[in-house]
Amino acid sequence: MSFRTEDYVEGDTITAIATPIGSSGIGIIRISGGRSVTIAKSLFRKEKDRSRTLESTFLDRLPSHYLTHGYIYDPSNQGVIDEVLLVIMRAPHSYTREDVVEIQSHCGPVILNKILKLVLTGGARMALPGEFTRRAFLNGRIDLIQAEAIEEMISAKSENALKLAISHLTGRMKEVVSGVEQTVEELQVELEAGLEFGDELSNPEVDFEGLNILVQERLIRPIEKLLTQYSEGYLIRDGIRMGIVGRPNVGKSSLLNYLIRKEKAIVTPLPGTTRDLIEEYINIGGLSFIITDTAGLHATQDPVETIGIQKTRENIDQADLVLFIIDGNQPFIGEDDIAFEKIGGKKIVVVINKVDLVADPAVIHIPDNYTSHPLVFVSAKYGHGIEQLKEKITEEALGRVTIDPGRNLVPNLRQKLGLESALDAIRRAQDAIQMRAGEEVVLIELGLAKDALNAIIGTQFSSDLLDQIFSRFCIGK
Ligand code: GDP
Repeated sequence: MSFRTEDYVEGDTITAIATPIGSSGIGIIRISGGRSVTIAKSLFRKEKDRSRTLESTFLDRLPSHYLTHGYIYDPSNQGVIDEVLLVIMRAPHSYTREDVVEIQSHCGPVILNKILKLVLTGGARMALPGEFTRRAFLNGRIDLIQAEAIEEMISAKSENALKLAISHLTGRMKEVVSGVEQTVEELQVELEAGLEFGDELSNPEVDFEGLNILVQERLIRPIEKLLTQYSEGYLIRDGIRMGIVGRPNVGKSSLLNYLIRKEKAIVTPLPGTTRDLIEEYINIGGLSFIITDTAGLHATQDPVETIGIQKTRENIDQADLVLFIIDGNQPFIGEDDIAFEKIGGKKIVVVINKVDLVADPAVIHIPDNYTSHPLVFVSAKYGHGIEQLKEKITEEALGRVTIDPGRNLVPNLRQKLGLESALDAIRRAQDAIQMRAGEEVVLIELGLAKDALNAIIGTQFSSDLLDQIFSRFCIGK
């Protein structure tokens, strides 16, 4: 189910279970909108006293952000559903800037669903994915970059990815983008004034050099910096795709299983992501690696296996790094070379496996074409050499990355595309200035740049864009 803006009705009060389904200590039901407090009042009582009237004015007097203890009743039969803690966060001091009520109940799908049903009967509707955050955005509490950062924080699969998301949440990215946007605006104002007083740009006395420096230093440079950081940092945020390749029986699955057992990242699958290949996330050195359990790259007659190999092929094409596995207890054979040739051009770590079966790994003969890559000796069965392997993996994966996730800003793909179109427009404006074209031409390009920058922050947005962004969220966020 994706959120359509048509579904958004400002007066609606929305609700959802905000904690994961399953058994845990407590569960939270979140309600947001104008009817939140009224609904809470119809269900909540301070006392475990059936004789008292159900409608309680107590909640009207409860100060904002104070947790209070009480009971949830079913208004239809006065039965106690659960003992709970309840908090009201009154507008505008809440996540959505609307009146928000959160009910902390005992956790368990039955209890939570029962309370949710009562809230729905009371006049709320089910929230769509990300709708609470969407309201926070539409009500001006956060900008679009921060909304995305919230989703990135939730889905961060490594510590470094989390650091990147936090730096967006604190508004530093917005500061940089707005800074550029403001300069564009200042330039627009200046040129528009010029228009009124004649064609300033064709006036030989105009300080073209100064204008050029301004465009270069205050517009082009900060955008280029962010774009460079994107190309270095996306691996940190999105994870590094790692393929495991080698002929059959060299120990690919054993190595994958060993790594998963030791380093598996806890990951909630995204709703709606169905893939034929199983993806595993592991964390090595604060980085997230996405490994796909693949079928191998060997030649086969089996039609089913052929499909698997085709998928492996596609997967390897997308890999940022490939572990090429060799059986150290077997002589090299043609099949090794065939598989190895297929991954030519990729960043490779050569892994000589099964060293536990070899008396002296130093005597293993390794052909020259393999030794030009970093090489590690391991035993996937007993875990020998795995620490060295992990070091090599992070070294290779991050070889050229110099960004510090705690300090640098790394745009996401949407922001990167927006920055690129802003940069294109600014460059065209710069060309127009240098060619002494009229103000109108420059102003058109600056207008386009400004639109692109505004779209990044969300001062300008389309409902499709919001649908796209918020449908990635979970329900209840
Ligand atoms: P794959 O076909 O490349 O995925 O290879 P597998 O992981 O299925 O391993 C093939 C065989 O080699 C299995 O019997 C494993 O137990 C064995 N094997 C894998 N790694 C090692 C190792 O490091 N040492 C030893 N002695 N056996 C291994």
